[in-house]
Amino acid sequence: MRLKPGCETPGVDQRPQAAAGVKRPGFPVRLSPDAGLPSATRRALGTRATDDLKPPQSKAALAGLQQPMPAGVGLDSQTVRSRMVEKLARQGVRDALVLAAMGRVERHRFVDTALANQAYEDTSLPIGLGQTISKPNVVARMLELLRQGNEDRLGRVLEIGTGCGYQAAVLSHLASEVYSIERLRGLHDRARENLRQFRLANVHLLFGDGMQGFAKGAPYAAIIAAAGGEAIPPAWIEQLALGGRLVAPMQTAGGQQALVVIDKTAQGIRQAVLEAVHFVPLKSGTV
Ligand code: SAH
Repeated sequence: MRLKPGCETPGVDQRPQAAAGVKRPGFPVRLSPDAGLPSATRRALGTRATDDLKPPQSKAALAGLQQPMPAGVGLDSQTVRSRMVEKLARQGVRDALVLAAMGRVERHRFVDTALANQAYEDTSLPIGLGQTISKPNVVARMLELLRQGNEDRLGRVLEIGTGCGYQAAVLSHLASEVYSIERLRGLHDRARENLRQFRLANVHLLFGDGMQGFAKGAPYAAIIAAAGGEAIPPAWIEQLALGGRLVAPMQTAGGQQALVVIDKTAQGIRQAVLEAVHFVPLKSGTV
């Protein structure tokens, strides 16, 4: 089966365990109570008894899920996102912080208005210049892998491939600082425009070739790439903190792409190759 770019297929769950005895770089500040404790999980999952009892907002959102919805109508509702989060949980995403963050970010504000009514479906969407925003399930899966073994927020995170800025916005709720780099000027500008309304002070958008990483922000507690190359660029490994983790798509021997998880430990680099994915290509230089 041929996959569309960004239309990734989760395979067998082979999640690597956090390295024994290796403390992943964390963040000393605890999150506010609504970010990850059981009540937040409930909120993220939308299981609050009152959620479905609040007309007219939830009725409008429900109606919107059942039939094509004019752009903008019903999408502001938390209920629409809660349903997406519920589905993510059913698909196996367990991390309460990731679920809460996915529930907070308004994905429809990152895509073209003509596509906004598909924003909470589990599908990848075009974001212009031949690039795609990954489907929610893949974003959540990668963020869960990135955070594995951390109870609190991550420290500084580097994202390669800002695209429309959606994943950077989700990351802003999971990390102390997010450095996100994009090689296409048009998308870098669009992401800046998209993110402005959210006033996320900890997201730093950079225009440049992410294959070089961003040395000024290093070392990073975590690095995540939304584009896949033939190999993991050495700069990423260099800029990863000891105890840090990198999650990226990478070409495998058969010419396919798979998710790769790399842990930088005191004993060296540990790499796990997980399920097949299909991301846009990692390219060098800027345009
Ligand atoms: N995380 C994004 C997904 C963007 S798709 C989102 O939420 O929208 C992947 C992006 O990686 C594309 O925008 C592509 O231009 C970018 N990309 C590819 N190679 C790159 C490189 N070397 N440096 C920076 N960005 C790169």
